[in-house]
Amino acid sequence: MNKKSFLGIDVGSVTTKIAIISENGEFIDSVMLRTAGKPVIAVQKGLKLLTEKLTCEYDVLGVGTTGSGRQLAGTLLGADVVKNEITAHAVAASINVPGVHTILEIGGQDSKIIIMRDSIVTDFAMNTVCAAGTGSFLDQQASRLNVPIHEFGPTALKSTAPARIAGRCGVFAESDLIHKQQLGYPIEDLLYGLCQALVRNYLSNLALGKEILPTVVFQGGVASNSGMVKAFEEALDMKVIVPENHQTMGAIGAALLAMENYQFTGAQTSFKGWEVQDFSFKSFTHECHDCANSCEVISIVQGEPECEDPKTPKDVKGDIIARWGGTCGKWDLANTTQEQMAHK
Ligand code: SF4
Repeated sequence: MNKKSFLGIDVGSVTTKIAIISENGEFIDSVMLRTAGKPVIAVQKGLKLLTEKLTCEYDVLGVGTTGSGRQLAGTLLGADVVKNEITAHAVAASINVPGVHTILEIGGQDSKIIIMRDSIVTDFAMNTVCAAGTGSFLDQQASRLNVPIHEFGPTALKSTAPARIAGRCGVFAESDLIHKQQLGYPIEDLLYGLCQALVRNYLSNLALGKEILPTVVFQGGVASNSGMVKAFEEALDMKVIVPENHQTMGAIGAALLAMENYQFTGAQTSFKGWEVQDFSFKSFTHECHDCANSCEVISIVQGEPECEDPKTPKDVKGDIIARWGGTCGKWDLANTTQEQMAHK
């Protein structure tokens, strides 16, 4: 007999994460892969990778999605719950680290802080604008300094006299790093100096005015960097906990939310099945010329489109399962039936 489970999918701009948990909420497994600008393919590939890793077959009782591509993933898979990243990360942290009061989260292209009291989110802030302090920025600097990203943390920890790097913004941080490199600072002092600069930037922007209380949890890809963990611990003067599955906490949270939804409603899942990974999807990108904004509109059709070479979003015909990109919402599929769309 197949075991019962819940699935969580976190589609971010840099990576896509998929987690599976048992019917009781215990972590079973997860996968992470690059989104590479193709979220549909990333979700399908991720499901394939996950099924290859699983040692037995699972029936899915519920699916949750989160991340910037949560609506798209939700439509593709037939998700039961679609939630923002703040909720997903908060749920995962509060289940995995009881008593958590502060969540630091730094991903590939954004960072956030979540303040919790009694397992409830009381405040949060997100940074999706400044590159400094994100995983992509650290990746770029590591590659510029010829340090493989997995050696970044261990090398930074060897620092005895960290360089003082200006971390107010990515451009300043990079030019200051180059300047200090030319002055002959050892690599470990440059790397740890960069960690300290990014932590200063994070605390003086995102955490400004927020009361950071222990227990503090650090999630997201950048939590793998032991230099960043130490820099946070020094700056906050408190222990920072990095959960084992810190990279896939958003997906685990989405799965836990699907479980809660199932326990609360008992509703049958809308999941389209594991075979979604083999469905054929076609995407179309068009400029809408109905006003001067000229928005780029993306349409996703499941199966074969009933049209050849459509020239505008209106020409796309077939089983359109998702469409987004118009500033005015004219082409959005959310809350809009296919019939209503035909009259747009
Ligand atoms: S989608 Fe809306 S805002 Fe964008 S070009 Fe078309 S009509 Fe204008």
